[in-house]
Amino acid sequence: MPSKEVVVDRFKCAYCGACVSVCKNNANELVETFLVINRELCNCCGLCVKVCPMNALRIEEV
Ligand code: SF4
Ligand code: SF4
Repeated sequence: MPSKEVVVDRFKCAYCGACVSVCKNNANELVETFLVINRELCNCCGLCVKVCPMNALRIEEV
């Protein structure tokens, strides 16, 4: 099990899709107004966190 995960602040997310565009693992997906992160595919590379214009993503220890 991974010890970290990407967390979305749903109040900050503007559904722009930038994080989806940069993910090389197809680990995130916009489903209408929700950003869904697939924990099985996400390796916590942090690219999506860096490109999010709304600062809506963060990596948390779990
Ligand atoms: S941390 Fe990396 S692998 Fe995980 S969703 Fe973001 S871009 Fe994709
Ligand atoms: S880049 Fe940020 S604002 Fe855009 S869809 Fe992803 S989490 Fe939401």
